[in-house]
Amino acid sequence: MFTSLREKQKHFFYTGQTKEYAFRKKQLERLKEAIQTNEAELLEALKLDLNKTNEEAFLTELGPTYQEINHTLKHLKEWMEPEKVKTPASHVGSVGKIHYEPYGVALIIAPWNYPLQLALSPLVGAISAGNCAIVKPSELTPHTSKAIAKLLDQTFDEAFVKTVEGAVDVSQALLKEPFDYIFFTGSVGVGKIVMEAASKNLTPITLELGGKSPAIVHEDAKLDLAAKRIAWGKFLNAGQTCVAPDYVLVHERVYPAFLKKVKKHTKALFDKALLKGTYPQVVSGRHLERLAGFLSDGQVELGGQYNKESRTLTPTILTEVNWEASIMQEEIFGPILPIFTYQSLDEVLDKVRDKANPLALYVFTENKKVEALITENLSFGGGCINDTVMHLATPYLPFGGVGESGTGAYHGVESFRTFSHRKSILKQSTKVDLPLRYKQGKLTMKVLRKLFN
Ligand code: NAD
Repeated sequence: MFTSLREKQKHFFYTGQTKEYAFRKKQLERLKEAIQTNEAELLEALKLDLNKTNEEAFLTELGPTYQEINHTLKHLKEWMEPEKVKTPASHVGSVGKIHYEPYGVALIIAPWNYPLQLALSPLVGAISAGNCAIVKPSELTPHTSKAIAKLLDQTFDEAFVKTVEGAVDVSQALLKEPFDYIFFTGSVGVGKIVMEAASKNLTPITLELGGKSPAIVHEDAKLDLAAKRIAWGKFLNAGQTCVAPDYVLVHERVYPAFLKKVKKHTKALFDKALLKGTYPQVVSGRHLERLAGFLSDGQVELGGQYNKESRTLTPTILTEVNWEASIMQEEIFGPILPIFTYQSLDEVLDKVRDKANPLALYVFTENKKVEALITENLSFGGGCINDTVMHLATPYLPFGGVGESGTGAYHGVESFRTFSHRKSILKQSTKVDLPLRYKQGKLTMKVLRKLFN
């Protein structure tokens, strides 16, 4: 179904044009201009799909995409330089270099929660590394998908970049093609399907997945700030953020105070939007039903009202939740925050290890030892000390999961590297030709031992 499109791109790739620095730079500039020109339409699409306000859409979709393009344009030339490495004594006279080579034609599959940013940011990486790309946006955000298709069609020849819109059938048809790279963002379940499909062609992949990301609030934390930052990170985009705190573990000594503060901040941050009808929607009726089913898993301390017509669920705080309850068996991915208490940090380690490696982890403490104990003894993609979500918003930190929360990383130079193959080339001198490797005998053995010991 998509063989001719992929082959067309491969032919274009073989012309070598995408490898030129000037070409990559120009395409990134064109992409930025196209987003700027179509800004109003993109914001409108995000409003229609997820009821995102212009401010939220700019903060979490357009802004990070611009930042990624600007950062890449600033550094691309230096990233593209082959990296000279040392050579051992056995290689005297030769020079070793690592060349960053584009893979060829990349497939980018995007989810719906940040439907613009998560389609275009990987594309910035693919272009910066000199690849052609096919972008498959999520069908669950159809207005944004259409807007992306229009934007990319206007900007690029399909032999270089093309959007393919559609649902699971389209995604699976694309996955049958022997792409040179696959970059997937989405759920763990579909990640497994993508990995299996990629294995058929031994295609290298990045999997940006999700998971249950904990926020740990220790007894010495600055409670008010912790509560505010957790409430913001959790309920932003109606909790539909891959790195949103999924649940909170709070030290029992500060639990009552924390609960009070997190309720206060949630109301302060989101009540106005709820009143004005500008709080983001849950993506679909099916997702809203799933979330509504979780409400009986604990005691509702705040929120809990949902409306099927407007597809909204008010920011909800749950306590008295059983660790075995259904809400704790999958990523919540909606505006419900269960809060648990702990007595010791060992208990925290056990509880977090009980679940698959999370994509993010947040620890709130003023104690460096607690910081180290948590960050060094638990496996997670990345995270923050005394904040939530913000580690994802800097181009200087690679962003990705580990184990069940993903494979590989991107953002900034890491996007460029992700979409590049590191090709090692050893250039040998023709002026000298040490006889050692051609000879047998005692002397050779002696020198070999010296060289390799
Ligand atoms: P999803 O896995 O359902 O869909 C993602 C993409 O895969 C869509 O384009 C969809 O069309 C396609 N798809 C769906 N089912 C498929 C199948 N059976 N075969 C092939 N393709 C298929 O994910 P979603 O619901 O769009 O997004 C939510 C998930 O994504 C959450 O788990 C969230 O944590 C995760 N996520 C991760 C990141 C990250 O950067 N790590 C970012 C955003 C979202």
